[in-house]
Amino acid sequence: MTLCLDSLMPSFLNIHAHRSSVSPCETVVRNFILPLATQALRLELPCGWFSAGIHPWHLPEAPEESLRQLDVLTHSPRCLAIGEVGLDKCRDASFALQREIFMRQLELASDRRLPVIIHCVKAWSELWAVVKEIRPATACVIHGFRGKPQLAESLLAQGFYLSFGRCYNADSLRLCPPGRLFLETDEAPHSVETVYCAAASLRGCTPEELNTQCWENLRQIMRMSGNRTVPVPLKET
Ligand SMILES: [Zn+2]
Repeated sequence: MTLCLDSLMPSFLNIHAHRSSVSPCETVVRNFILPLATQALRLELPCGWFSAGIHPWHLPEAPEESLRQLDVLTHSPRCLAIGEVGLDKCRDASFALQREIFMRQLELASDRRLPVIIHCVKAWSELWAVVKEIRPATACVIHGFRGKPQLAESLLAQGFYLSFGRCYNADSLRLCPPGRLFLETDEAPHSVETVYCAAASLRGCTPEELNTQCWENLRQIMRMSGNRTVPVPLKET
C-alpha cells in the first residue's frame, strides 16, 4: 500500500469567502450577510463553519431584527466569527448608522468571545476610535487588506490581524508577522490555494508552511475567544 503524503496535509484555510468550498483542498469560513431569509437559514447554514454579520453596504431597514438573528446564530458551535462588519466612507449609507450597528455587533462579539471580521474603507481613525471605546475581548481581523505598509504597521501595532486576498500591497504582505496573517478569496470564485501560492512566493516560504501558520493563527484567535476548539480538516485525496 502506498502512503499518500499529500493526504496528511491540512486543507487550505480560507478565512473569508461568500461561498462554500470549491475544492477538497480548501476549508472555508463562509460568510453570511444578514438578514438571512428563513429558507437560507434552513438550507445553507447547516453545512460547515461560518461567520455572519450586518455589512455596512447592506444596512437593513429593521436592524433590531437582524441583530436578533445574529444573536441566535452566534450560539451555533459552527459560528467562528462575527462579520463582515465595519465602516465604509465610500458608501452613501449614513455613517452614524454604520457606526452604531458596527458598535452593537462588536459588543455582541465581545460578549460571545467571537473574533470579528472587519470591513473598513477610508475610515481607519473612526475604526480605531470605536475599537478603543468598546475594547472587545476578542481578536479583530481586517479582511481584504490592501493598504500600504505604514497603515499595516499601525494596525498591527494596535493588535489587529490582517487578511489578504487577491489584490494587496506586496510590501504590506511581506511585513505582516506570520502570527498575524490570514488569507481569503472574498467574492472570487477560485480556490484559496492560488492565493497561498502567490503569497508564499512573495514571503519566501511554501504554501503549505503558510497554511500551517494560518491554521495556528485561527486556533490562536479561537483560544483568545474562549474554549472553542478548531480541528484541522485534512485534504480529501
Ligand atoms: Zn466579503
